[in-house]
Amino acid sequence: MVLPSRLARLLRSTHTWIGLGVLAPLGMLMVSGLMLLDLRQDAWDKAEQTSRNLLQVIERDIARNVEVIDLTLRAMQDNMRMPGLAKLDPDMRQLVLFDRATGARDLGVMFVLDENGDVVEDAAASPPRKGNYADRDYFQAHKANGHLGLYVGRPIVSRLTGERMVNFSRRIDKPDGSFGGLVLGSLKLTYFARLFDQIGLGQEGAINLYLRDGTRITRHPYLEADVGVNIAGSRTFDRFAREGAGKFVETSVRDGVRRLYTFSQVGDLPLILNVALAVDEVEAGWRAKAVSIGTVVLLLCGLTVVLSLLFGRELRHRAAMQAELARLSLTDALTGLPNRRRFEEAFEAAWDRARRTGKPLSLLVVDADHFKRYNDRYGHAVGDEVLKGLAQCLSAGVHRPDDLVARVGGEEFAILLPDTDQDGAMRIASKVHEAVATVSVPSAGIAAGAVTVSIGLTTGHGSASERAEALYRAADAALYEAKAAGRNQTRCAPGSEKGNLRAPVLRLVGAHRGQA
Ligand code: GH3
Ligand code: MG
Ligand code: MG
Repeated sequence: MVLPSRLARLLRSTHTWIGLGVLAPLGMLMVSGLMLLDLRQDAWDKAEQTSRNLLQVIERDIARNVEVIDLTLRAMQDNMRMPGLAKLDPDMRQLVLFDRATGARDLGVMFVLDENGDVVEDAAASPPRKGNYADRDYFQAHKANGHLGLYVGRPIVSRLTGERMVNFSRRIDKPDGSFGGLVLGSLKLTYFARLFDQIGLGQEGAINLYLRDGTRITRHPYLEADVGVNIAGSRTFDRFAREGAGKFVETSVRDGVRRLYTFSQVGDLPLILNVALAVDEVEAGWRAKAVSIGTVVLLLCGLTVVLSLLFGRELRHRAAMQAELARLSLTDALTGLPNRRRFEEAFEAAWDRARRTGKPLSLLVVDADHFKRYNDRYGHAVGDEVLKGLAQCLSAGVHRPDDLVARVGGEEFAILLPDTDQDGAMRIASKVHEAVATVSVPSAGIAAGAVTVSIGLTTGHGSASERAEALYRAADAALYEAKAAGRNQTRCAPGSEKGNLRAPVLRLVGAHRGQA
C-alpha cells in the first residue's frame, strides 16, 4: 500500500509532470538520434560494399583483357626469335606472328617496331602500314631500359585511326642483348567506356583509371579533357599511390566534390583503379529519412512539452483551487473571520504550545447582548451588518500575530490570546467594549453605543491537569455570569489566575443594556 500511495502522490505533483515533460522529449530525441546515426552508418556500409564489389568486377575485367594482350605480345616476342622468320614471305610472316586475338573488338593496332621506331610488321596489313613511333613514351622507355617487361604507355590518339587508345608493349632484344625494337598492342578507350557505361554511380559518381605516375587513362563519365591529365601530387592520388588499396573520403581535385574513394591496383599492372561515390549521394536517401523522422520526432517532442506544461498548469490550478476551498472551509462567509473549525484547530495548537512553554493562554468568549431584538426590529440584513461591525471591532482589538479572533456561533465570537495573562486579557476585553460602543448602522438608525457585548474571560496555563475544553467551558460560564449580572460587561472565570480567586468585574460607562 505504501508504493501506490507514493506513486499517486508523485503523479499529483506538478514537478513530476514538468520533469516528465522535459525528460520524455529528451529521451525521444536521444533514441531517434541514435537511430538516425545507425541508419547513416547503414547507408555508408552499403555504399562501401557496393564500391568494393564494383571495383573488384572492373579490376578483374581489365586485368583479364590486358592479360590476353600480354599473352599475344609474348607470343610475338617469341615468334620474332624464330630462325628463318625473315626469309618467309610477308603474308606468311604475318600469319605466324599474330594470333587470332588481334581480331578482338576493342583492340587497336598490333605492330612490331624496329630499333628506329619504324613499323616492320602490322597485324592488320601486309605490307605493313608506314609509320614511325620513335617519339612515343613507350619506345623511349624500352630503349633506355632493357628490363621493363610489359610497359603500359600514356593514353594517345592513334596516328592511323585518330582513336584514343592505350598501348601495351614489350621490348625485343637482339642476340647481343642490345635494343632491337618492340612488340606493341593497343586497347581502345572505347573498351573502358563500354565497361563503365553499364554501371550506375549516380550524378556525381565516377570511375578513374590512372597510370602509376598519376596520368589519367580514362574516366567515367567520359570527358575528352580528362584523358592524359596528370594528378600526381594531389591529396587523393598520394593516398592511392601510397596505400595501394583501400577507401577514404576526400574532396576531388578535379571538381571539388567530396567523394568516397575505393581504390586498388589492377592485378600486377602499373594501373590504379578507383570507384568514387559522391558523399551527398551516399547520404541522400538517409537525409530524406532523417528530415522526415526528425520533423515527426520534433513535433512529438513539442507536443509532449506543451501537453505536460498544460497538464502542470492544470494541476497547479487545481492545487490553488483546493487551497482556496480549504481556506474557505475555515473562514466564516459573512464576516471573513476564521470560523469555529479554524478556531478549534488554533485553540488545540495554542493549548499544546502553552503546555510546552508554561506560558499563560487567555480566552475571551464574546456574545452580543440581546441580539435577537436587532433581528426582530430591523430585520436579518441589518443584524448581519451589526455582526460585520462587531467582527471588525474585535479584529481591531488584537495585534499580535498569534492572536486569533473567530466567529464561533451566530452572534458569538472567541478571541484566543496566547502568551497573555489575565491582566493583559482584561485590557483587551476593555478595548473590545470600547470599540463595540462605536458600532453603528446609520441606515437603520442604530447609533453608536447601542450595541453591547458580554465577555467571559479565562486564563489557563496548560498544566497537565487542565484541559482545553475545560478552559472553554470556564469562559462560557463566565460569559453566562456576565449576562446574568446585567450584560455589557466582562467576567473572569474563577481561579483562572493563580492567587486571584476574585473575579474582576468590568463595567463600561453608560450601560446601554436594553437599548436595542
Ligand atoms: P443574549 O443577550 O442573552 O445573548 O440574547 P440574544 O438575543 O443575543 O441571544 P439568543 O441566543 O436568544 O439569540 C441569538 C440570536 O442571534 C438568534 C438569531 O436570530 C441571531 N443570529 C444568529 N446568527 C445570526 C446571523 O448570522 N445573522 C443575524 N442577522 N442574526 C443571527
Ligand atoms: Mg447574544
Ligand atoms: Mg449567543
